[in-house]
Formats: sequence, structure tokens, C-alpha cells
Amino acid sequence: MAENEQQAEQLDVLASTQSVIKKALDKLGYPEEMYELMKEPMRMLTVRIPVKMDDGSTKIYTGFRAQHNDSVGPTKGGVRFHPAVTEKEVKALSIWMSLKAGIVDLPYGGGKGGIICDPREMSFRELERISRGYVRAISQIVGPTKDIPAPDVFTNSQIMAWMLDEYSRIREFDSPGFITGKPLVLGGSHGRESATAKGVTICIREAAKKKGIEIDGARVVIQGFGNAGSFLAKFMHDAGAKVIGISDAYGALHDPDGLDIDYLLDRRDSFGTVTKLFKETITNEELLELDCDILVPAAIENQITEKNAAEIKASIVVEAANGPTTMEATRILSERNVLLVPDVLASAGGVTVSYFEWVQNNQGYYWTEDEVEGKLEAVMVGAFENIYKLAQIRKVDMRLAAYMVGVRKMAEASRFRGWV
Ligand code: GLU
Repeated sequence: MAENEQQAEQLDVLASTQSVIKKALDKLGYPEEMYELMKEPMRMLTVRIPVKMDDGSTKIYTGFRAQHNDSVGPTKGGVRFHPAVTEKEVKALSIWMSLKAGIVDLPYGGGKGGIICDPREMSFRELERISRGYVRAISQIVGPTKDIPAPDVFTNSQIMAWMLDEYSRIREFDSPGFITGKPLVLGGSHGRESATAKGVTICIREAAKKKGIEIDGARVVIQGFGNAGSFLAKFMHDAGAKVIGISDAYGALHDPDGLDIDYLLDRRDSFGTVTKLFKETITNEELLELDCDILVPAAIENQITEKNAAEIKASIVVEAANGPTTMEATRILSERNVLLVPDVLASAGGVTVSYFEWVQNNQGYYWTEDEVEGKLEAVMVGAFENIYKLAQIRKVDMRLAAYMVGVRKMAEASRFRGWV
């Protein structure tokens, strides 16, 4: 294979996740047919969404919904609004959701949706129309016992509210369990907004214990200041860590003495943009290579690659984003003895509290914030320990161990159903 072809494959998140799924199934002794079943989503819908723009024109947007495997239960996963969304990416993201569900032992398979659009350039009303249009387009294949959407990159509780309202209108009954990440008043759960970052914080704490690093005073770098990155910056700051670098899509900030996190949180816009307010910025590439103890990529895919993996100074990398590290970079980091906590484990706090939200909707009985957080803590610590131990016993990196845990229940369920 030519070098550029190899690189392209590496950056192809679907191909790289398939290669780890294959390894995990081989390690667990499953036949080739199991891999054939799991390498692609079982259902993939592409839709065209006509949206009336504020200026009277009509734009047609392309959207996707992937349902990876529903052997364990309904599929579940977020919807992202981003100009770089691709069909392959959505497929990979749905596979990752299956793995997350397996890792934290939820009764779900993985699903994912996406629309190719730039919400930063759309008005509030245009966003409402595209959100409702998407639900109309996918309504046949989603529902509280079929496939349950949630927020992801550039979508939030307001968008979930519009989607819920559209779905309830189509079905003509109230159906809060159709979607998670809703506002509290519409059946959302306490602790859902900060759940991904809480889960990441727990993984950082557990990984730091293994490496003998004190959180109090540890130097932390966070790439991305969206939902995960911004809450995480706050939690790390509150725990006494020094957040010395953060970034958004336009640049990064660095202060070796620790950034003023409260100020940055106050000034960020709803898309997590804040660096535009500063004259002295560094690039995202420079940010990743800063001298620090803990690095958290919390933005998008393919940020740590074979090009910069050798330059990473952190001794712990915790992936809050989906797919931020390529497989070649994973190998380089693990050779260098960097403890890498993979995305499918580290970012599973979001879907865990989404599950709590769905359970509360189904019960019609709502929990306190303490109850939610206590349950999340137990789930994340259990999942971390399980995967850490498996990695040690089977002498594999934590990513492969996480995939092994993530596919096991789904593989067993698929077998019991007679699919393979
Ligand atoms: N979008 C989040 C993720 O990638 C959450 C999905 C959910 O809550 O269903 O894990």
C-alpha cells in the first residue's frame, strides 16, 4: 500500500475501528461471521431535509441515522450537526456507541445520527426547522423502544426539545423516552449536561491513581471547550488541578501557571468558542504537545496521529472526544508507556446518564442529582477497573481491552438470537 493510502486508511475512522473490532473478536475466539455482522451498522438511513431559510430560500441538507446492532436492546446515540459529517463517520460513531453500551452494561445497542450543516451559521429558527425536518425524515425508524437519539457535537437540550416536540406531534402522544439530553422541564435528568465530563473526571482520577499522580496540582491540557471540555475544565479546576491549556476550533490558550477557568467559562459562546477574544494564542497542534501531566482531547477525531504521538508529553491521555487518537498513535503511546484511557470508556458517562434519563421517563419517577451522580460514579469506576484489569491480564492496551469488553455482550446476544 502506498504511504498516502496507508495514511488515508489510518484517518478513516470506520476502517480503524473495524480493525480493532476484528482484533477484539479474535481474542475472544469468535468466528469470522461475528466480525462480518459487527463491522457495519445493521441499518443505515440517508435522508434529504428541505429547510426554509430565513431569507425565503430553501436549502436541502443531507442527514444520516445509523443503527449498529440491536441484539441487546434498542439502539442509542447522539445526533451531530457539523459541516464535516460523513456517512462513514456516522457509521463508526454508531459502532462506538455499541461499545460504550457494552462497557457500562446498558441494555442498548449503538446508534448515531448526523446532519451535514454548520449550525454556527444558522439562525435559531433555521436550527429549529432543520431539527424538526430531521425527525420527520427518520421518524419511521426511531422511538423509545427502537432507537433513542441524544445530543452530540453542536447539538444541545434546546435541539432535543424541538425534536421531542416534533416526534410527539407525529405520534400524537407524549413520548419523553424518545430522546435524551432534554431540558429538565421536559423530562430531562439532573446531571445529564455535565455527565460526559463527570465520567471523564472519574477516569482521570482512577488513571492518576494508577500512575501515582496527585490531581491536586497536576497540569492538565484540554483540547476543545464544548460540552465535555468546558465542564471538564471546571471539574479539574475545582479538584485543584492546574488547567494550563484549552482550545476551541480557532486556536488555543496556554498559561503555565494555570488559566482563569471561571473567566473563560463566562465568556465562551454556546459553541464553545472563546479563543477569538485573545491576541496571544497558540495552535491546536502546539497545545497537544505542551508539557503537562494529563492530556484530554475533547474535540473531534484524528487529533493524535503518528505525526505527533511521539511529541506528546503527558503521561496520561484520557479521550473525552470520540476517536481523537489513530490506531498507529495508540501503538506509539502505549510503547512509550503513556496510559491511554480510550474514548469508548472515558466518554461513556454521557450515555450512562442518558440511560438514567430514559429509565426515569419510563418510570415517570424522577431522581435527585445525588442519586444520579452516585449511580454514575459506581458505573464508571466499575467499568474502569474491569478494563484496566483485563488489559493487564491479557497484556493488551486499554483500547483493545475496552473493545473486548464492549463487544462481548452484543456478540453473546447476537448468538442467542441465532444471528450468527
Ligand atoms: N453523544 C454522546 C456520545 O457520543 C451521548 C449519546 C447518548 O447520550 O445517547 O456518547
